[in-house]
Amino acid sequence: MDPRTTVEAMLRPDLRGRTAYGAPQLDVPVALNTNENSYPVPPVVVEAIADAVRAVAAGLNRYPDREFTALRTALAAYLSRSGTPVGPGAVWAGNGSNEVLLHLLQAFGGPGRTALGFTPAYSMHPIITTTTGTTWVDGLRGVEGAGAFDLDVASAVAQVRAHRPDVVFLCSPNNPTGTALGLDVVVAVHDAAPDALVVVDEAYAEFARPGTPSALTLLAGRPRLVVTRTMSKAFALAGGRLGYLAADPAVTDALRLVRMPYHLSTQTQAVALAALEHADLMLETVGAIKEQRDRLVSGLTALGLDPVPSDANFVLFGTLEDARATWQELLDRGVLVRDVGIPHYLRVTAGTPEETTRFLEAVAAAVPTRTGAAP
Ligand SMILES: *Cc1c(COP(=O)(O)O)cnc(C)c1O
Repeated sequence: MDPRTTVEAMLRPDLRGRTAYGAPQLDVPVALNTNENSYPVPPVVVEAIADAVRAVAAGLNRYPDREFTALRTALAAYLSRSGTPVGPGAVWAGNGSNEVLLHLLQAFGGPGRTALGFTPAYSMHPIITTTTGTTWVDGLRGVEGAGAFDLDVASAVAQVRAHRPDVVFLCSPNNPTGTALGLDVVVAVHDAAPDALVVVDEAYAEFARPGTPSALTLLAGRPRLVVTRTMSKAFALAGGRLGYLAADPAVTDALRLVRMPYHLSTQTQAVALAALEHADLMLETVGAIKEQRDRLVSGLTALGLDPVPSDANFVLFGTLEDARATWQELLDRGVLVRDVGIPHYLRVTAGTPEETTRFLEAVAAAVPTRTGAAP
């Protein structure tokens, strides 16, 4: 008997036939497909991280600080720099913000409960939701006569009222479309779902255009609101696996019920803490990346394409006759971008100036410039 058949029969029925998260990890000259920070960790921070890990190595015979107190305090201080004071008790962290989202769903979702998101948004939101036995409700973005991927107050509120979810995901700036949400949408969704936990995924907050407020400013007095962040993008620490959230301390306390004991290893805590101690240095590339993001938008526009305005470190662009074919043509030229499954669109990460140039040259070669659109 084919072992696959046996395993398939044993598997939870709701997981049968599913495909796993699978952004290709290919060895290519220009990798612009997972919104990583293209710049390596600066040498000064490399030294600090190495020293920090060396300093804790002898103590690895002991379990780590289960409460990650020093790291939690540093994360609270980092968030408070935005002008909204956040206390250590309001912070929770995990191995990437994906684990933080998993903790939220384990505690507030589960069988018999539903989570609503507005598609297209982060592909892991439905995956984490269904992994915990929570039912996923696919809400829709898109406004008549406005941006195809915008989410307006009336539409969001109507969908929340119709589905009465237990958890609502908002993603701002939204992956994969790039644009940030107005806080009016967050407040309206929060108020329209009086029993729901409202999670605002702000993985790309540091890249937002000036004047884009964070939902952190809404936390006071809203114990059902959660803002998640990550060190994977602006902080250039995707390999370090550290994500976090800010919420009412009653929420973070509930997450202790579902996390595995000692879920943040000693070395994870040491690495993240060392990086946070050099926050300014770690974030130094953000300005340069935003410049490349804006260059991607203008370059793609000049090629007659239609990039979506972005507050993140990536740009979604269309409209392509055959997105899959263009994806392959770019890959053949050494440039890996992301096919996020939106017909006629692809997503590209903003990297170094050289990477932008290589990408724009590859697009120019792969996609014939539209007549009348070129400058
Ligand atoms: C990249 C990304 C994350 C980050 O995940 P980590 O587990 O922290 O690496 C979270 N949310 C969104 C929307 C993302 O695009």
